[in-house]
Amino acid sequence: MFSNDERTEMSQDTKAKMWTRIETPRCSWCGYKGELEVPNEGLFARNQGALIQDAFPELSRPEREQIVSGTHPECWEQMFGGFDA
Ligand SMILES: [Zn+2]
Repeated sequence: MFSNDERTEMSQDTKAKMWTRIETPRCSWCGYKGELEVPNEGLFARNQGALIQDAFPELSRPEREQIVSGTHPECWEQMFGGFDA
């Protein structure tokens, strides 16, 4: 008789997700690449072809934009003339 009670790796605590720092494409506004921390499972989902908003629901829209186009959130604001001082 033996019991197979090995615990699964699945954790109930979604806050304990692993995050990875990735490099984002060259920003078309300032010309620099950027970095951003994203959840590993989102990266995996993207590799599987998931839409960016489905893969990274925990990121803000500007952050997702940075992943896709490389445009930094602060550059995005400037491009669209966020504030016209
Ligand atoms: Zn930029």
